[in-house]
Amino acid sequence: DLLINQIAAGEVVERPASALKELMENSLDAGSGEISVALQQGGVKSLRVADNGAGIDRDQLQLALSRHATSKIASLDDLESVRSLGFRGEALASIAAVSRLALTSRKQGERHAWRMEAAGGDISGLQPAALEAGTVAEMQDLYFNTPARRKFLKTEATEYGHCEETFRRMALSRADVSFGLQHNGRRIWQLPAASLAQRATALLGEEFAAAAVPVEEGAGGLRLHGLAGLPGFSRGSRDAQYVYVNGRFVRDKLIAHAVREAYRDIIHHDRHPAFVLFIELPPEMVDVNVHPTKIEVRFRESRAVHQLIYHALNKSLAAPIA
Ligand code: ADP
Ligand code: MG
Repeated sequence: DLLINQIAAGEVVERPASALKELMENSLDAGSGEISVALQQGGVKSLRVADNGAGIDRDQLQLALSRHATSKIASLDDLESVRSLGFRGEALASIAAVSRLALTSRKQGERHAWRMEAAGGDISGLQPAALEAGTVAEMQDLYFNTPARRKFLKTEATEYGHCEETFRRMALSRADVSFGLQHNGRRIWQLPAASLAQRATALLGEEFAAAAVPVEEGAGGLRLHGLAGLPGFSRGSRDAQYVYVNGRFVRDKLIAHAVREAYRDIIHHDRHPAFVLFIELPPEMVDVNVHPTKIEVRFRESRAVHQLIYHALNKSLAAPIA
C-alpha cells in the first residue's frame, strides 16, 4: 500500500506548493475563518497550515491519513453534487507517504486535541495534545524517503514562489476568510477578512483595483462575478489571471478563450489583462474529477458558459469606455 501511496503521491504532491494547496483546501472545507501558513526553506523543510475550522474527531483522525478516507462524500453518486474542494480522500495519505506529516486537531467541545504522526507512510499511534479548536497540519522533509523525487525540487526561491502563488490563489478565492503567510520566520502576508476589492488591492496592488470594473451577470443557473482589469494596468509579463469555478481555481481553455475574445473585442492592445472571476453553477453541471489536482474541469453546457463569460465581460469592459 505504501508503494501505491507513493505513486499516487506523485500526482498529488508534485512539489511543496501542491501539498500547500491540499492542506489549505482542507482548512477551507472545514469552514475555517482564519488560516495561517508558515513555511521553512520554500516549504521543503517544513510547511505548516493552522486553521480554526471544525476539527477532526479522534476516530476520524486515525482514518484521515489512510487512502480514500474522506468525510466529504459517502458514495460515488455524491460526486455529482460535491460542493467541497476535496472529495477524493487521497491528499493526506499521499503527503504522509512522502514526508513526515503530523496532524493535530481538536473538535469544538472536546477537552483536548489529538495528534497523529506519519513518516513515509508509517503511521504512529494517537496521542493527546494541546491545541485550541481547529487543526494544524505540519509537513516536514518532503521526499526524505524518495531521493529520486527530491532531485526534481528546484531552488528554495522557486519552490517558495510556487507556494506564494498558491497562497495568493487561495486568499483571492475567499476574501471573507483571513489568511497569514510566513516564510523562514518572516511575515509576508497578513490579510484580514475583507471584500473582494480590498483583498485584490492587497494581493494584486492598488493599480489593479483602481482600474478594475465589477462583473456581475447571471443566466439559467449560471453566475459570473468578480473584477476585470482595464488596459494599461496589467502586471506586465506576470499574469494576474484568476478564474474560479465554484470556488476552485482552474485553468480552462474554454474560459480562457471566452475571456480573451471579450477583451479583444473591447481592448485591442492588451495582451495581459488582469482579472479575478468567479463562475458559480450547480455542481452537477461541472465535472471536477478530471485531474488528480482538480485544476481542470469539464462543463456540461460549455456553450452556455462561454456565452455568459463573453457577454458579461464585454458589457463590463465596455461600460467605462462608453
Ligand atoms: P478529502 O479532502 O478529499 O476528503 P484529504 O486526504 O485531504 O481528503 O483529507 C481526509 C479527511 O481528513 C477529510 O475528509 C476531512 O474529514 C479530514 N480533514 C483533513 N484536514 C482537515 C482540516 N484542516 N479540518 C478538518 N478536517 C480535516
Ligand atoms: Mg482534501
